[in-house]
Amino acid sequence: MQKLGIDFDGVIQDSSFLKKDYCKSNFGIDIPLNQGKRGYLITNNILTESQYDQMVSDLYETELGLEAKIVENADTVVNELAKNYEISIVTSRSPLGVFMAKKWLSQNNFPTIEVIGTNNKDKLGALTGFDYYIDDDLSKLLPLVHQISNLYLLSWEYNQGEKLPPEINRVNDWNEISRLLKI
Ligand SMILES: [Mg+2]
Repeated sequence: MQKLGIDFDGVIQDSSFLKKDYCKSNFGIDIPLNQGKRGYLITNNILTESQYDQMVSDLYETELGLEAKIVENADTVVNELAKNYEISIVTSRSPLGVFMAKKWLSQNNFPTIEVIGTNNKDKLGALTGFDYYIDDDLSKLLPLVHQISNLYLLSWEYNQGEKLPPEINRVNDWNEISRLLKI
C-alpha cells in the first residue's frame, strides 16, 4: 500500500469558528473567520504572540477543541481512502495536542489511523518514505519538495495568495482529493 500523510489542523479539523469565539470572549477582539493563522494575526497586530499561544494551547490541548468541526467531506473521503492507502496524520501538535486530536477523531467517526506529532518541528523526519502528503500551510510543504513525490496544498482564503512551485499542487476541497487519489 502507498503511504498517505495528512496534516490535522485546517485539513481534517476546522477550528476557525472556535478561534473566532475564543478571541471574542477572552480578548474582546473580533478576528476574521477565515484568517485564524498565527502569521496573519500576529503580523497584523491583531493578537500578541502570547495571546495566540494561549488560544492554541486552550483549543488544541483541552476539551474546548472537541467542539471543532470536520473540514467538509474529510471524514467520508478519509474513510474511503483508508481502504487503499496506509494513512497517517502528521501534525505539528504537542503530545497533549495529539492526544486530543485522537479523541476528536474517534468522536467524529474517522477510521483508526496513526497520529504523529512533531511538536512544532518540521515534518520531514516523520514523513520519510511517504508517497503523498496534504497540508494547508505552504511552509510545511516546501521542505518536502523532492522528498515526497506527491504534495498537495489544501486551498483556503489564508493561503490563496501563495505562489506554489511546480512540485506542489493546489487542491480546492476533499472531493478533489478523492478524485486525484482514487484507485
Ligand atoms: Mg494545518
